Parts: sequence; C-alpha cells; structure tokens
Amino acid sequence: MPIARSLATVHARIAAACAASGRPVGGVELLAVSKTFGVDAVREAMDAGQRAFGESYVQEALGKIAAVPQADWHFIGPLQGNKTAEVAAHFSWVHSLDREKIARRLSEQRPAGMAPLNVCVQVNISGEATKSGVVSGDAAGLCRSIVALPRLRLRGLMAIPAAVTKRDSPHFREDENGDSPFRALRELFDSLRREGFELDTLSAGMSDDLEAAIAEGSTLVRVGTAIFGQRSPTKDP
Ligand SMILES: *Cc1c(COP(=O)(O)O)cnc(C)c1O
Repeated sequence: MPIARSLATVHARIAAACAASGRPVGGVELLAVSKTFGVDAVREAMDAGQRAFGESYVQEALGKIAAVPQADWHFIGPLQGNKTAEVAAHFSWVHSLDREKIARRLSEQRPAGMAPLNVCVQVNISGEATKSGVVSGDAAGLCRSIVALPRLRLRGLMAIPAAVTKRDSPHFREDENGDSPFRALRELFDSLRREGFELDTLSAGMSDDLEAAIAEGSTLVRVGTAIFGQRSPTKDP
C-alpha cells in the first residue's frame, strides 16, 4: 500500500478514537516509526505531510537524519551510555529515558546551539522483568532528577505495555481482570502532574493498540507497521 494511503488510514483511526472518547483530534500527535525502513520511505511519508519520525537504533538513524534533517527525529529505543552524545546531537526527543546517569549525560552532551532535548520517562507499566523502563514507584524520583538538568526538558511518560492476549484482539493489552495498562499509565501521569511536574505528553499506543491508548489519554501514538508495513525481523531484533 502506498505510504500516503496507510498514513491516511492511521489518521482516520486516530480521529475515530478521539471522537469515541470525546477528545479533540488535534490532541493526539502521530510519530511515524521508521526503524528498519530506508530514506525513501521517510521521504514518501514527508511528501504525504508527516513530519515526526521515530527511530530505535542510533547507528541506523544517523544516516536517515543526515539525509532528511528537516524532519523532527525522536529516539524511542534502548539507550546505552556510549550512544548518548550522538542522540543528544541529532534528535529533538528521547522517549526511552529510564536512568539518571543517561539523563545526566544527555544534558551535558546536548549542544549549546540547540533547544533543550525533550524527554519522556519510560515506565515499565506491566512490570515485566525483561523490559526497559522504571517501575511506577521510581518515576517521580527520575522526574525530579531530570527537571534539575539544564539541557533537558521533561515532557511526560512513555510505555510499551505487555501483550497478554492475541495481537488481533482489541483487548490484547488488558490483564486478566480487564484492567488496561494504559489506564495505570494515565493515573501515574495524573499523579505526577498533581505533584507539580509540568507534563504534557503521554507517549502510548502503537499500530495494534492506538485506540485503547487514546481512550486512556495518550497524546502521542508511535506507529510503525500500520504506516510502513511489516519489518524484517533480522533488522528489528
Ligand atoms: C517499533 C516500535 C514502535 C512501533 O511499533 P508498531 O507495532 O510497528 O507500530 C513503537 N514504539 C516503540 C518504542 C517501538 O520500538
């Protein structure tokens, strides 16, 4: 399917999900996750009006950023200490911040001529042993460290909930009690705001679950497969 058409389909899904929960359509941004896809795919999406792109692998992203510097580049993958300088210099957002040490490095390495780096704290909302992200109880502490860093701007929370039923089920993110991890994420977001953190971004929802995320207040959905097609598993381990 041409990217312009799949983008239009995703925009229609976002609009329908917003309407279903009585939210304005403008309240949900679309991040096009272009990891594993080439510059041509990014350009095709840009021609169709897409501006913000998400990447998970630093090395792969740098070539695309050099080729399409006018796009808005968001880093959404696991971030190691030896890659922070490149991320600080080439991205406008990091969604996957889950360690104070990485936060400090990003702040120190953010080039002086650039605006502060926008960051979200990644929360391991389903409490999976193998997943990245802080547990909910540690989110406030990390937020406190981030707001003290001059070259970072704390924007909100990000999560990738575990799948608990088949991907083609509309309820595949719900636990055995029917509770939505997106609701738990939103409750954490609201409580941090009550504590005084000025958060405006809830980065939640992907190709298979953006409706459930929008129903629970997501302000930014990260969508790859539904825009660009299936990724090659060898390129996206
Ligand atoms: C790959 C990825 C996505 C996109 O997932 P799709 O299911 O292809 O929409 C979103 N968020 C993160 C953090 C990812 O790594």
